[in-house]
Amino acid sequence: MRGIAVSLALASAACAGPEVSAHATSAPIVEATEARAEPGTGADVAADVAADVAAEALDEPAPGPEPDPIAALMAMDGSQSTSVGGPNDGRVEGAVALPATAPGLRSNPRRPNAEALYGTVEVVQALVDAARVVHESLPGGELVVNDLGLREGGPIAHHGSHRAGRDVDVLFYLLDRAGQPTPSVGAFLDPRGRGFDFRDLTDPRDDHLVRLDAPRTWRFVQALLEGPHAPLVQRVFVVEHLRTLLLAEAERARAPRAIRDRFAEITCQPGYPHDDHLHIRFFCTPEDLAAGCEDTGPTYFWRAQALRAVGLAPVPHRPRRDRPMPPRTSAAEARERAGPMHARVQEWLTRRESWSREPRPGRTFCR
Ligand SMILES: [Zn+2]
Repeated sequence: MRGIAVSLALASAACAGPEVSAHATSAPIVEATEARAEPGTGADVAADVAADVAAEALDEPAPGPEPDPIAALMAMDGSQSTSVGGPNDGRVEGAVALPATAPGLRSNPRRPNAEALYGTVEVVQALVDAARVVHESLPGGELVVNDLGLREGGPIAHHGSHRAGRDVDVLFYLLDRAGQPTPSVGAFLDPRGRGFDFRDLTDPRDDHLVRLDAPRTWRFVQALLEGPHAPLVQRVFVVEHLRTLLLAEAERARAPRAIRDRFAEITCQPGYPHDDHLHIRFFCTPEDLAAGCEDTGPTYFWRAQALRAVGLAPVPHRPRRDRPMPPRTSAAEARERAGPMHARVQEWLTRRESWSREPRPGRTFCR
């Protein structure tokens, strides 16, 4: 318990933080069902009863099939939500909540921010769709989704962005020591893709070795980049060494060249290393651009081309100078706050500094 809180506190410099419980939400659809009375069996009494039942049934339609909130969510039109402003200073209207569960997907009950369940229709649909693809093609794992944003967007604890319904953090799919899928946790993964769920930081006996489940994590990324909202996927923030492992897996899995290239183009390591989760950012939809949505860079040629095709041009983002920034926690402060920890945790955090300081292999930080 404490281990999780601490590892999240350590991560809080830019993206992650403490914990909570998730709520399901999509509005259920009630399908109208025609009630039909069973014919009587011959006896008068039976006929009367049948008539009564029929009358009641007419008043109260028999329950139809269970409403399927996931199908309702996936059928929603993107125009029902609107992202306004930029990821760092915007807001969102008509945001939808991530379901607590969907095939191959779980909203993290220990997410950094309990209320951060909301995103644009496109973002939530993209996650549900990609997790389903992984679930069907490589069954056994589960995508664990951390923070999206608040119902109306705006400033949110533990994040500099996540304000306009277009940012989401997802944990890596993980394997255990025996190579079996294991529930995802925010473990810092090293250049070999290995990490520890340290749990109680003072107790070395409960450490759980995990490693990146590259096949499922890559499959998720590929599904996202091939899915219904693929043209909106702007950026994936991830530590450079895991980007490299994912690209190697993509090659091994013979993923389409265009998808591998797209992933290579849109991924980069920001100041906070993102060695425990992927942060995915989406572009404004054309409708949202008209309503005041603003993209931050980069604008790729294919994005400009897609906008030109619908008679639009990229909208330059104008950062608000006065926007309040959440307090940033330095690695040293987080470590201090975490309290006592056993030797391996300390060793791991020291190793971690090497890939936090500069991306490896040799690219620059993304802005
Ligand atoms: Zn994030």
